[in-house]
Amino acid sequence: NQGIGSWPARRARMTPGRVALSYQGHDRTYGELRDRAYRLASALAAELGVRRGDRVAYLGPNEPALVETFFAAGLLGAVFVPLNTRLAAPELRFVLEDAAPAALLLGTGREGAGRDGDGLPGRHVPAEAYEDLVAAGSAAPIDEPVSRDDVCLIMYTSGTTGRPKGAMLTHGNLTWNAVNLLVDVPLRHDEVTLVSAPLFHIAALAQTLVPTVLKGGRCVLEPSFDVERTFELIERERVTVMFGVPSMFGFLTRSPRWAGADLSSLRHLLCGGAPVPLPLIRAYQERGLTFLQGYGMTETAPGALFLGAEHSVDKAGTAGVPCFFSDVRLVAPDGTPAAPGEPGEVYVQGPNVMPGYWRRPEESAEVLDADGWFRSGDVGIADEDGYVRISDRIKDVIISGGENIYPAEVESVLYGHPAVAECAVIGVPDERWGEVGKALVVPRPGAAAEPGDLLRHLDGRLARYKIPKYLQFVPELPKNAAGKLLKAPLRKRYG
Ligand code: AMP
Ligand code: MG
Repeated sequence: NQGIGSWPARRARMTPGRVALSYQGHDRTYGELRDRAYRLASALAAELGVRRGDRVAYLGPNEPALVETFFAAGLLGAVFVPLNTRLAAPELRFVLEDAAPAALLLGTGREGAGRDGDGLPGRHVPAEAYEDLVAAGSAAPIDEPVSRDDVCLIMYTSGTTGRPKGAMLTHGNLTWNAVNLLVDVPLRHDEVTLVSAPLFHIAALAQTLVPTVLKGGRCVLEPSFDVERTFELIERERVTVMFGVPSMFGFLTRSPRWAGADLSSLRHLLCGGAPVPLPLIRAYQERGLTFLQGYGMTETAPGALFLGAEHSVDKAGTAGVPCFFSDVRLVAPDGTPAAPGEPGEVYVQGPNVMPGYWRRPEESAEVLDADGWFRSGDVGIADEDGYVRISDRIKDVIISGGENIYPAEVESVLYGHPAVAECAVIGVPDERWGEVGKALVVPRPGAAAEPGDLLRHLDGRLARYKIPKYLQFVPELPKNAAGKLLKAPLRKRYG
């Protein structure tokens, strides 16, 4: 097995007694992780009929069962599908119907949609049944022939069409991303990595869990990000590595504990997912901490550009240069290479680029060419030294606290309300979240609805983070001669 499912066993060959996972005061060694991954894999096969290529979905927060399911699926050559716990029930249903998993494991935590599996398609394993399932399996080694080109996981990202699509990532994609990261960040065997960003997003999974396991370090799993707990854990566990989106790092600086916190154990702060504001970089610098910044996306597993510690100050504002084994080019609107200082769409090629979207050949062909160049939909500008600043986005997406909001998805749900004649959702700057959504609605003549009624209509139909923070009635929306909505003037006027 050349896949990541074999990593706990490979690690346990060298260091079975080292702690792999810490969770709420309990430790699990690499030897235990290996045994439990084998048990779970054999039980998934025997009790739930999971076979090579089948999908195994997990709906839950960061916890050991999620990590074990990831490795167990990999042992069987099955495909891990982590689900965003913030999705509303109809959104979860869509994703599950698309992924059609052989099994859906439900994690702990009962708040939010679908936690009891109510109304979700497929065969469920409730959280209470998880330990019995593991106990039913055998700890004998499993040696399925898994190649690095086999799909390891499917991660759903929404799209400009408003329909989520599953980015397929291979074992090789994740392995090479980890290698790319280790080229720039000298992670050690004694790293203590705080994993509090959600593992159902690529950054936490691929930039913290996977490279830490590769080095035999310890992951401190947290079910969700909490400011107080973060300070507590950094001090108590002597955390050395942490990943966050800019909002998370911003919340820490605004806490009353910030000034007095002991941050001396921290060696590597990884930040990405959205542009890192300069004041945030400075606030951490004053504490002697520099960010390692990265740019990437789910489809590139995720690292594409990286700004290491050496240039974190003189090249601040850029996302750095291409990762060692990856290539990035900037393509001007006329298809020629963009010169330094000129904007161009960011294309990425390399062993970390996904083979395509699950069961979406047309959408895959739109973003991947025959040579494996992936079109990001982002705009970058390179300086004379090749450092790329992400300057704009071509794709219509709002990035709010690290979660992506596709206006098309929100608009289509808004159109379901009878009082809406026309609508558009734009992103507006927000100090805490980077951006938040703002809906502009042309009400139907004679409709009696208030903005609050429309927001309530979205409740339960969309994940909470997708619900616009502002909703304003407007007399009309700007359009071009062909009747296509123009968002740029809208942003100028209402942003
Ligand atoms: P996701 O697939 O959810 O990881 O979102 C990827 C998108 O986040 C990219 O296509 C960019 O638009 C944005 N993004 C990620 N990292 C950065 C960064 N360092 N600077 C600016 N935008 C970023
Ligand atoms: Mg993101």
